[in-house]
Amino acid sequence: MAVRRRSSDALPEARPPSCIFEFVRTLDRFRETGAYLRGHFRLTSGLHSEEYLQCALVLQHPTIAEQFGKQLASKLGKADLVASPAIGGLIIGHEVARAIGARFIFTERDAAGKMTLRRGFTVKPGETAIVIEDVVTTGGSTREVIEVLQAAGVKVLGAGSIIDRSGGKADLGVPRVALETMNVVAYQPDECPLCKQGLPVEKPGSRPTS
Ligand SMILES: [Zn+2]
Repeated sequence: MAVRRRSSDALPEARPPSCIFEFVRTLDRFRETGAYLRGHFRLTSGLHSEEYLQCALVLQHPTIAEQFGKQLASKLGKADLVASPAIGGLIIGHEVARAIGARFIFTERDAAGKMTLRRGFTVKPGETAIVIEDVVTTGGSTREVIEVLQAAGVKVLGAGSIIDRSGGKADLGVPRVALETMNVVAYQPDECPLCKQGLPVEKPGSRPTS
């Protein structure tokens, strides 16, 4: 007599065991959580693209955020503190800080748009720091955080991000690591093939755009 398997019997085999979790590719985690979007997007830079990574959607899962943090920490050394630009860098920066046993602080833009340390955060000259962002595109935000810290006498040892969308080109003036390096194809609006097809463009970014 044939033994009928319940459909749920197959489930454990369909998932990778947790011990190999860390070898699952970063982008697979984005796809699994719906954080890898395809469509027609206007990026913060003003360029148009067919793909967009919404880090908030992958980082809403603390176990994944923790794993990304450990992976980044393993590529970076120890430091006294981890600093990130709000809001995008908050979750991953915190996880990296947890993994290396450092404290975590964040910068924000003031009313004039200048990156600053607020909320009573202080740093001391001679302290060492790592700067963490979710996605590096041009590296602008990370560079601004580095400048804030260096102006206060902090030694910035390195920088990291989950995704490097610059294809490795962004130069931050310090050693830099990423879990995934991508060459994102982006178009000037007047040369965008998606615009030429008449597809409506979305603005998925987190920054207010005018
Ligand atoms: Zn377009």
